[in-house]
Amino acid sequence: MSIKKELFVYNSIQRKKEKFEPINEGFIGMYVCGPTVYSDVHLGNVRTFVSFDIIYRFLCYLGYKVRYVRNITDVGHLLDDGEDRMSKGAKAENLEPMEVAQKYTNGFHDMMRIFNTLQPSIEPRATGHILEQIEMVQDIINNGYGYEKNGSVYFDTVKFAEEKKTYGQLSGRVIDELMAESRSDLKNQSEKKHPSDFAIWMKASDDHLMKWNSPWSVGFPGWHLECSVMSTKYLGETFDIHGGGNDLKFPHHENEIAQNVGACNCQPCRYWLHTNMLLMNGRKMSKSDGNTITPEELMTGDSPHVSQGYDPMVLRFFMLQTHYASTLDITDDALKASEKGYKRLMQAWQVLQKLETTGAGNSEDEDVTRLCDMVLEDMCDDFNAPKALSRLFELVPKINSYKEGHLDVNQLSADALRLLKETFSGFIFDVFGLKDVLSAGGADNGNVMDGLMGLITELRQGARENKDWSTSDKIRDSLAALNIQLKDGKDGTSWTIN
Ligand code: AMP
Ligand code: ZN
Repeated sequence: MSIKKELFVYNSIQRKKEKFEPINEGFIGMYVCGPTVYSDVHLGNVRTFVSFDIIYRFLCYLGYKVRYVRNITDVGHLLDDGEDRMSKGAKAENLEPMEVAQKYTNGFHDMMRIFNTLQPSIEPRATGHILEQIEMVQDIINNGYGYEKNGSVYFDTVKFAEEKKTYGQLSGRVIDELMAESRSDLKNQSEKKHPSDFAIWMKASDDHLMKWNSPWSVGFPGWHLECSVMSTKYLGETFDIHGGGNDLKFPHHENEIAQNVGACNCQPCRYWLHTNMLLMNGRKMSKSDGNTITPEELMTGDSPHVSQGYDPMVLRFFMLQTHYASTLDITDDALKASEKGYKRLMQAWQVLQKLETTGAGNSEDEDVTRLCDMVLEDMCDDFNAPKALSRLFELVPKINSYKEGHLDVNQLSADALRLLKETFSGFIFDVFGLKDVLSAGGADNGNVMDGLMGLITELRQGARENKDWSTSDKIRDSLAALNIQLKDGKDGTSWTIN
């Protein structure tokens, strides 16, 4: 198995860029925290999953065999008001909690398809792994880092921090700050030894809907536990990459590490990758703040935040223009500019596909080869998609000049032209995951429209030659109803859109 190039990634836990070295040569295990399926996903969630989709696609492109695990959080977790999200959703919609979970899992999958993200290799659900979660709670208790109180089990953060010295390493918080900040399961604060301790099993109240038997009580697992359990089950005790949005660093990922170390005495992964937040009007896009735009609203334009509808590929292009670890502010102007950029790239690809060379010379080769190499190099530098994309855009005027004859395409060797075509198609489609909606029948696709109108006028001409006036008139009238006017002249029939 050969890997195309060395990769460097920013490892959040080390706070620096490091050379990526997989545990098993040629293979990568990657776990990404998936959605909580109690309501529709918003574009912020989409940004995180698109970012990891590009990372996944690029790892595969480099030649790695990747096992990509992304979970579905379908166990409700306590909100500050003491109710869990899944039950809240179920009561509001008059559905069973598992109906709520299924409904929004389906919706999430639809969105992932629309944004052309690849499916993960495994998509485990928290509710399908309750037994394993109970086992991990038991391991944590056996190792002395968990204690039971009134049917709930808590993780002893102070003992863990004293013995292991690593608690807070990922989030950069020290135990005193953690104590002060701890907000989760507020109503159970009095049961805990320390405010920073967190629940790994919670006793359920009688009216709690999602609950299971355990050695401690009828209850439900703590939120952080499912990811520790499912990543271990499918990728091993220590795997290569763990990812998620950077809002999950604390408490979710910090506590995941504590659980894994507490249960197995090993770190869950070697590299932590965190994507940054999608903002709207300078604030994090978040459902609880009402500061969201849904994918449907983006596509239909039915939102005060956009002046028109945008194709999902325009949004993908928009996201590609910013590094995954930087914040990204969504604005109508930026989307409009992305729409233009996306079309320019696709048009260049359509031109490039048709270019041919006699290979008479090679004076154009050096520039093209250098830029194609840089695309790969940029992506190997912590998945720098915006830089890689800008290299492709450096090639666009060249491609157009070959077509228009300002530059001689025959000064490109056959190998260099092949590299150019492979780089464009490999990165635009395989790595960046864009689709060419212009050729596939997008609204302003001139080629498809020309082809269809050519076919229709030909059929009408045949009808006229056969003196089939009713068919000929029907075609003309139906097109007129679509505001397309036909004009019969001595050189044939032309058409215009009013
Ligand atoms: P949730 O369903 O809330 O657990 O979120 C699913 C994923 O979306 C997590 O990885 C979050 O970090 C991520 N996420 C939530 N809000 C945003 C946002 N505004 N921008 C980017 N990612 C987000
Ligand atoms: Zn998680």
